[in-house]
Amino acid sequence: KMIGDNAHRIAVIAGDGIGKEVVPEGLRVLEAVASRCGCSFRFDHFDFASCDYYLQHGAMMPADWKAQIGGHDAIFFGAVGWPATVPDHVSLWGSLIQFRREFDQYVNLRPVKLMPGVPSPLANRKPGDIDFYVVRENTEGEYSSIGGRIFPDTDREVVVQETVMTRIGVDRILKYAFDLAQRRDRKHVTSATKSNGISITMPYWDERVEAMAALYPEIRCDKYHIDILAAHFVQHPDWFDVVVASNLFGDILSDLGPACTGTIGIAPAGNINPERRFPSLFEPVHGSAPDIAGQGIANPIGQIWSAALMLDHLGEPRAAALVLDAIEAVLARPEYRTRDLGGTASTEDCGKAVVDALMAG
Ligand code: ATP
Ligand code: MG
Repeated sequence: KMIGDNAHRIAVIAGDGIGKEVVPEGLRVLEAVASRCGCSFRFDHFDFASCDYYLQHGAMMPADWKAQIGGHDAIFFGAVGWPATVPDHVSLWGSLIQFRREFDQYVNLRPVKLMPGVPSPLANRKPGDIDFYVVRENTEGEYSSIGGRIFPDTDREVVVQETVMTRIGVDRILKYAFDLAQRRDRKHVTSATKSNGISITMPYWDERVEAMAALYPEIRCDKYHIDILAAHFVQHPDWFDVVVASNLFGDILSDLGPACTGTIGIAPAGNINPERRFPSLFEPVHGSAPDIAGQGIANPIGQIWSAALMLDHLGEPRAAALVLDAIEAVLARPEYRTRDLGGTASTEDCGKAVVDALMAG
């Protein structure tokens, strides 16, 4: 098929370490799904947002990076970070945090789904029991930089950091969560709160949740304080469908969730601007894994699953579902598992197996 005006324009940034090994597997799967579904992609590769680029240019990205990738429909990202040569705060703040801010990626989306063949640390859980999303607010809340030290270095020292919630900021993340739940079978939203301890911002959050819930009468909505909610993630992960949380609570839950479903090598994430005014970014949850980089043994499933999330965002739900089915089919087969899942398959073996499953399915 010719690449026409309707092709999805994807900025591909492999980054560092195993990013350079797993991104090609994600692209392999996207090419395959394009041929199956009649959608098309234009992939533009960029070498910035990597530590190699930093070592050559003294910055993680060129001055005109926004012009270079701002017109794309999505960013397909591998991993950033090579702490042996560039400190993590330099590589991270010079790349992903810039994207998040400048492209207003106010949703951090993480699926939490137990897959066949992936051992869960939770006893007696089987695929189907755990299948939900964590929706984290990504731009405000507890991670404001407002605050400071009073009487520093004295014994009267006082340190303050403010939480900032805006009506626009809270409502837009809640709306995203309710819209997501609306598209799912169980139509259930759970809000993470702590209004019994945090007495100003969290009651406000609860109020806005109630106001939003009133607009979605067909959605069941409940809330838990963050402490007991964390316990429920472990003891009753089957209770959840869409879990929405502020920046800090969402940060914690979006690591806890994937941890409950097994290896870090398979979990995907989206940093999303739902209105599509700017490109959204899709990446695996894992980092650049310097300890295994260059050996061809990294698990590519996190990257491939990120491609499925990206397809959903691009309005290609059928393609997304095909990729997810292929991932499940491959994980069920021991011979295609990479080392982190107890197998001996290479990164490429696993990626090619997903393509085969996709073409056969
Ligand atoms: P981040 O850079 O996101 O802060 P990190 O540097 O703490 O994360 P990772 O780079 O994700 O951590 O690596 C953590 C551990 O998980 C390492 O031992 C790494 O080898 C392993 N790991 C990460 N991703 C994969 C993968 N795709 N396949 C196999 N093992 C992985
Ligand atoms: Mg790292």
